[in-house]
Amino acid sequence: MANVFNFSAGPAMMPKAVLEQAQQELLNWQGQGTSVMEVSHRGKLFMELIAQSQADFRKLYNIPENYQVLFLQGGARGQFAAIPMNLLRENGKALYLNSGHWSATAAKEARSFGEIDEINILEAGDELKVKSLDFSDIAEQYDYVHYCPNETISGVEIFDVPNVGNAVLVGDLSSTILSRKIDISKFGLIYAGAQKNLGPAGITIVIVRDDLIGKARKATPSIWNYETQKNSDSMINTPPTFAWYLCALVFKHLLSIGGLPEIEQRNLAKAKLLYDYLDGSDFYQNNVAKANRSLMNVTFTTGNDELNAKFVAEATAAGLQALKGHKVLGGMRASIYNAMPIEGVQALIQFMQKFAKENA
Ligand SMILES: *Cc1c(COP(=O)(O)O)cnc(C)c1O
Repeated sequence: MANVFNFSAGPAMMPKAVLEQAQQELLNWQGQGTSVMEVSHRGKLFMELIAQSQADFRKLYNIPENYQVLFLQGGARGQFAAIPMNLLRENGKALYLNSGHWSATAAKEARSFGEIDEINILEAGDELKVKSLDFSDIAEQYDYVHYCPNETISGVEIFDVPNVGNAVLVGDLSSTILSRKIDISKFGLIYAGAQKNLGPAGITIVIVRDDLIGKARKATPSIWNYETQKNSDSMINTPPTFAWYLCALVFKHLLSIGGLPEIEQRNLAKAKLLYDYLDGSDFYQNNVAKANRSLMNVTFTTGNDELNAKFVAEATAAGLQALKGHKVLGGMRASIYNAMPIEGVQALIQFMQKFAKENA
């Protein structure tokens, strides 16, 4: 199994250096003679780990001081409910910008909590293209405006931050967090499940501006309440300590390779390589407008379901794993998150060239 590259959309591949470190200290963490998963989350060493992970994450992502970083559970989907519980007034309303599967799913969940308006921000037509993002004239009547800057399934990324005037902007960054620079101060709240760009499944990061904490509805369970979580270091109950530890190792690793500027350069280079190849090929198609092509999830198809299935099977046999597109879309999808080295993209392109030649 020498040359396997894992293009899974999530849980996704982890940096090899992180897995090696975790393996090496698995049986004896910090000289304790036990693994990290066997110690108290309130013990001195684990408290040091979470403080360091907070500091490293804040440094990596340039988080302003008036934002809290919470390490929660329940995944992005948990936040689909937690956000209205914390931010939607009893008689208020929220605006959801619909750019695909995940933003639509978030809106659907929020409807259980109150009045939700939804705007489709994709242009009509075969090509997936995002319309203008100026909502400053309507946004302020809403408690918040929600959008998803990277639609993981279709491979649509929104690079400009929507203009919502003084309204509160909420972003589901599950598949784009820490992949490129963003201006956190334009957001009221950012959330992301860890299992794409940050670490293993089990941790959900919430970055929330101070003034939005403490406004939850009365009936909000304490694990979903940003204020109670903030006041208990995100440990109102036992956190997924092993997942948190692995995230902490990922943050250290990303800092060691040069932080966000370097990560962004690598991601731009990987995506460019793959899209340039797709553009030059008349065997494969990608239907996302150039301005909205995801740096993280690259979708493509041969236009023929049987040929797509053959592609996925032969790619898997060649060590290029998990290229099957999401079931709602079909085709292929290469997820090239932070942990994917450029060698993986090069190997994929080589395989695509060979497959095209053999099946043209
Ligand atoms: C994966 C994903 C989700 C779902 O995440 P869970 O942690 O499984 O709830 C939601 N939104 C986006 C953009 C995703 O990529």
